[in-house]
Amino acid sequence: MTREWVALGTVLVLLASNLFGLIYSMVVLKTNIFKSFRIQTKNYDSTIFRKRMPLFIFNFLILLSVAGIGSFLIYESIDTTVVSIWIIASQVLFAFVIDDVWFYFFHRWLHENKFMLKNVHAIHHRATTPFPLEYLYAHPLEWMLGMIGVVIAFALILLVMPINIYALWGFGLLRNLHEIHIHSDLELPLLSKLPFLSKTKHHDDHHSKLSGNYASTFNWMDKIFNSTFKE
Ligand SMILES: [Zn+2]
Ligand SMILES: [Zn+2]
Repeated sequence: MTREWVALGTVLVLLASNLFGLIYSMVVLKTNIFKSFRIQTKNYDSTIFRKRMPLFIFNFLILLSVAGIGSFLIYESIDTTVVSIWIIASQVLFAFVIDDVWFYFFHRWLHENKFMLKNVHAIHHRATTPFPLEYLYAHPLEWMLGMIGVVIAFALILLVMPINIYALWGFGLLRNLHEIHIHSDLELPLLSKLPFLSKTKHHDDHHSKLSGNYASTFNWMDKIFNSTFKE
């Protein structure tokens, strides 16, 4: 696989997952198909998607550029062969754990530092009743600093073994889908049964109550540091 294919594949993974997020958002905002699974009862503002669009596009272009150019530049550190599913799964899981630890402390700091809360993180919290694609709705500085966890995770993997391309793409795909899911305001029956993963309600409560629940992917960081939101 050439350097160009690695970068193109990364871009395609992000395009596909966000196209899904776009369609999912339209279904949630414009139809009643999932209404019975909604966590909150508040109606959506009918102009909300249009209002969010400029920042969605801006942050998505940042994401495509950083991931596409990044994977192009680190090509020599990437193994593009098909390896054992266990190596791929281990790299994906490790990246999720490291990324979540980074996100927990970074997100908590965005709340505890009043300057950052007021001038940066407040933008993401304009969404009190989130819909799927609102995971992209954040101050660009917050959006870029949030990617540091991914860089740390794959840099740590690189200390031990090459980064596998399927692990990189798999992680990118699952991370985006999970972010879309936790901003959906929907508690879907099957997904709410998965162990260890945080439920949509975990992050939905963070948006509606603005207190606690700083982790993203897993719920153990909030349990360890006693920051789980209590009703
Ligand atoms: Zn927050
Ligand atoms: Zn959020």
